[in-house]
Amino acid sequence: MPVADFITYCKMLDRARDKKFAYPAINVTSLATANAVLKGLAESRSDGIIQVSTGGGAFASGSAVKDMALGAISIAEHVHRVAERYDIYVALHTDHCPADKLDSFMIPLIEETERRRAAGQPNLFNSHMFDGSALPLKENLDISVPLLERCHKSELILEVEVGVVGGEEDDVSAEGVDSSKLYTTPEDMLEAARRLNKVQGALYLVAATFGNVHGVYKPGHVKLKPTILRDGQEELEKGYGREGRFYLVFHGGSGSSLEEIHETLDYGVIKMNIDTDTQYAFTRPIAGHMLKNYDGVLKVDGEVGNKKTYDPRVYMKMAEEAMAERVKQAVKDLRGTGTTLFDE
Ligand SMILES: [Zn+2]
Repeated sequence: MPVADFITYCKMLDRARDKKFAYPAINVTSLATANAVLKGLAESRSDGIIQVSTGGGAFASGSAVKDMALGAISIAEHVHRVAERYDIYVALHTDHCPADKLDSFMIPLIEETERRRAAGQPNLFNSHMFDGSALPLKENLDISVPLLERCHKSELILEVEVGVVGGEEDDVSAEGVDSSKLYTTPEDMLEAARRLNKVQGALYLVAATFGNVHGVYKPGHVKLKPTILRDGQEELEKGYGREGRFYLVFHGGSGSSLEEIHETLDYGVIKMNIDTDTQYAFTRPIAGHMLKNYDGVLKVDGEVGNKKTYDPRVYMKMAEEAMAERVKQAVKDLRGTGTTLFDE
């Protein structure tokens, strides 16, 4: 199927909220990793989300160009083309964009979609994340509200972050932050709703934080408090009714237990970002291949090596397959297997 349009994406989000499952939102940085996600989703009979970070976009544009918006556009155009061959829907999203990168990442991408719409073409991306979590909440929302207005005009969904996710990802690092800020309060969620709900009819997703951290940690290191999400949602429901509950996004979920993940789904998490685990899944078979075939991939002692082992396609194919398997695992963990809208 083509990349989901706005109506389909909204249906996806509502279906996840109603049935208490979540879509994996997998970071990709190349054609091979994007293809791995599509394969994993299709084999799971699940829709899902492909996302590009600022660093991923810069990487994809090539080390000589390093243009994060250009690389993101390039990956999105690839996905628009190849997604037509898969019997599932995929949405395209961009990950963390801090305030100082708006002008070099998110705004050029919104402009690209605006240009396309003016020419009668479909949106390039379905949604974008503005990460104002490093700012005081008021300043965060002062930027988020006009961004949401602009996104809404082009049927784009905005993801915002209220509170701070620990750990690090790309160059988004929360080292040394006040640890009480790792937990979003119900008051913060109500304030975000009060400001963002003024944009009539606009849809937004909220990354609220409940002790989650980016990167990978040994089990037990991460002190999650998913009940924070429950409490916040209850307050929102009191203030705005059932429909006022947030579409929640879970960042930094590597190393969380399955019970904790399922608990967050019960509280309204409909998107879970996955990067670290799929990075490892991609690299693992490459490492095995290199170690097992060191005398083929290297020209040892004046020998010529073995083209059948150093042709990048040989190990990239294994990497793609392993990553697709990890995507299938993520779909299963998020209770999404067999949920695609495509079958309806
Ligand atoms: Zn994140």
